[in-house]
Amino acid sequence: MKKGIRFYIALWGAKLGTILLKLLRRNASFFPGKFALKVCPDFIGKIDKPQTIVAVTGTNGKTTVCNMIEDILKDNNFVFIDNKYGSNIDAGVTTTLINGANFMGKTNKKLAILEVDERSSPKIYPYLTPTYLVCTNLFRDSLMRNAHTEFISEILTKNIPKETTLILNGDDLITSNIAPENKRIYFGIDRLETDGSKCENIARDIIVCPKCNTKLEYDYVRYNHIGKAHCPKCDFKSPEIDYLVTKMNLNNMKIILKNNEIEEEYDLISDNIINIYNIVTVITVLKQLGLNKEQINESLKKQKIVDTRYSDETVNGIKVITHLAKGMNPIACSRVFDYVRKYKGKKAVILLLDDLHEAARGSENTAWQYDTDYEFLNDESISQIIIAGARYLDDLVRLEMAGISKDKISYQRDEITAIDNLKLDDIETVFILHDLYSIELKEAVKNKVEIMIKNY
Ligand SMILES: [Zn+2]
Repeated sequence: MKKGIRFYIALWGAKLGTILLKLLRRNASFFPGKFALKVCPDFIGKIDKPQTIVAVTGTNGKTTVCNMIEDILKDNNFVFIDNKYGSNIDAGVTTTLINGANFMGKTNKKLAILEVDERSSPKIYPYLTPTYLVCTNLFRDSLMRNAHTEFISEILTKNIPKETTLILNGDDLITSNIAPENKRIYFGIDRLETDGSKCENIARDIIVCPKCNTKLEYDYVRYNHIGKAHCPKCDFKSPEIDYLVTKMNLNNMKIILKNNEIEEEYDLISDNIINIYNIVTVITVLKQLGLNKEQINESLKKQKIVDTRYSDETVNGIKVITHLAKGMNPIACSRVFDYVRKYKGKKAVILLLDDLHEAARGSENTAWQYDTDYEFLNDESISQIIIAGARYLDDLVRLEMAGISKDKISYQRDEITAIDNLKLDDIETVFILHDLYSIELKEAVKNKVEIMIKNY
């Protein structure tokens, strides 16, 4: 593609802007790309790109998956560009490509790992052909931003280039059917003891066959629409899995992954099903990039789920666990609530949802709370629930609707003083569930809880 004067003005302006922003110690991961796209709308198509591009998209897990892929590649001395510290929309991707190129718009980088927001597909894929496009899963998310899974999967199908090989969650019937003409590789987890025949969740995003509208029959349900299903009337069904977890042992934290009849053992770094899916996604991508089992396992052992998403500490015999519970995202919240109820021992839960935070650009409404399984918190093992923060009264209504006795709930607007109500009798674990926008607040709450435990 001929580059032209607009391209060079955009490139040089963005490069200069990056230098200035860095001198001013400002974030330079968004505006240079935004500027370049303003000056030259088809900039992404014109700039040189690495030969191999892995794009990662999906409702949940894309940041964790990207972080892990990048850390393991780095550990194995791969050189690549990524948008780890940048934004995952067109301006962020553009900034990453600019940083990977010289003043003539040429690059000597061979590999790019890019996290891409699903909704940015129409602005990115017409100009950039991923070698692999990974889709972790597709669920209902913030209504305001994402509408519905049908809308999102349609955007993906319309915009993914025909040459791209897809790496898809085969246990997700929505994800596994995007861009049906493209070459695809499925990953998945075989039936687990904990899988049921009925869906326990409020939300399920695919109920009828997209081909003939007959109600789907589930062979088993893991959570929401994750599981294995078939249409009783036509040939629509869950796909055959290429990278299949055939065994999962949470006692020694190992999985057996089968590909092409070869079984390999891998380490797990989390016992949470969401993170196990993330790990399986990462292994599948790395195998496709040519890494072997030893390389992956060696680096996997050094991995940790990022501290802002999960942390645990034991103080005077009581465990304090912080866990991200992303507001406006009913599936992510429900998975966390499920993890909490299944966690062994007596628990107290501190719930700090903050989707009204200005960084969340103002929440839509509380509809998402009614797609979220607050009912999972109605469990004997949970003896106290403290709710605080902007959503505390909405939480109160929702918890009462879930049938939770008001004696168990304490509620207050201020997060720090709310902790005064924490009762530590018989408690083995305190869960602090927080939003994406309340990381500092979470730290303050955690410190206060730990002091209370020390003085207990
Ligand atoms: Zn059908």
